[in-house]
Amino acid sequence: MSIITKKITKLENIALNPAKAVAESCKETGKEAVGCFPIYTPEEIVYAGGFLPVGMWGGKKEFKESEAYLQGFCCSIIKTNVELGIRGAYNHLKAVIIPALCDTLKCIVENWKIAVPQVPSVAIVYPQNRWAAGSQEYLIAEYKRVRSELEKITGVLITETAIEQAYELYEEYRAVMREFTEVAAKYPQTIDAKKRHLIIKAGYYMDKAVYKEDVKCIIEELKKMPEEKAKGVKVVATGLIGEPIEVLDIFVENGITVVADDLAQESRQFRTVGRPEGTIWEKMAGRILDQRGCTFLAEQKKSRGDMLINMVKNTGAEAVVVMMMKFCDPEEFDYPVYKAQLEKEGIPILYLEVDQQMESFEQLRTRIQSFAEML
Ligand code: SF4
Repeated sequence: MSIITKKITKLENIALNPAKAVAESCKETGKEAVGCFPIYTPEEIVYAGGFLPVGMWGGKKEFKESEAYLQGFCCSIIKTNVELGIRGAYNHLKAVIIPALCDTLKCIVENWKIAVPQVPSVAIVYPQNRWAAGSQEYLIAEYKRVRSELEKITGVLITETAIEQAYELYEEYRAVMREFTEVAAKYPQTIDAKKRHLIIKAGYYMDKAVYKEDVKCIIEELKKMPEEKAKGVKVVATGLIGEPIEVLDIFVENGITVVADDLAQESRQFRTVGRPEGTIWEKMAGRILDQRGCTFLAEQKKSRGDMLINMVKNTGAEAVVVMMMKFCDPEEFDYPVYKAQLEKEGIPILYLEVDQQMESFEQLRTRIQSFAEML
């Protein structure tokens, strides 16, 4: 097996078996894990405490216990997290961090304490008004509160020096991921839509120091190869997550390649370049204050549409695929705005309503197939 195949297979397996991957990562590093709910959590603070930050992006589970705490119209990601929490799947976590970025998450901040009392939680509230003078000061106070609550729960002192070191590591990881998405777009046969997603997702279940080296290796191996031609349609993906995985299987079957993305679980985590100046707290706050085009962080003038249009132009993509998570209100509110902008530019849109618990994919298969043929 070639080096690149080995690395890709390793990361694919990790993304497909998160619980096993986290257990192995904890064993290898001697660290304990802290869960990080979507969309943004200050992972650097967790890492600086000597813990492994682990992404909690739902999964495929039948809902039973969670129905007592969440209405039927809550998104499947959070329902799965609560369901797994109640069933004890997260009992090994030292704590979970929950950002109150949408109505569902706001409710979970309180519900988690009752539904999953055995796993302590720390909430973080981001500023709604990011352009106000006090927003940076407020956000820094929130980060410091998260640090102090995590210290109380774990009994570990988290120093600023350790946070600085963690931030440097995370900045390196984010730069590697930006490069990966650029390079991967030139190798649509080796890095198809499914592989691209799984490689990025694996980072949520590994120590970033190890993960970034694996991704670096994939980049280096790709660069040694001649660039590849896309067999079918090149698209930009937008939305929350590129799942269920079966949808990506259908993309691959129909030759649809993701050449860039604006997914919350993928590029939104690393696309914004960090501030070079300032204290460690200002730099961390800058990551939220400088983020553009994300529905979870309010903007005076929504920039997502223009950003998607530029992504299409810069990558030579032929369409935008919207992976709309069912019942995700913030994402649904953004859609009419950028849809109108994309239509004005003549950019075709494929709107797919997805849900992690989906069982039948035949309707989606037909729509994806027709869209690819039409283009
Ligand atoms: S509603 Fe959307 S943003 Fe809120 S938790 Fe669900 S998927 Fe995430």
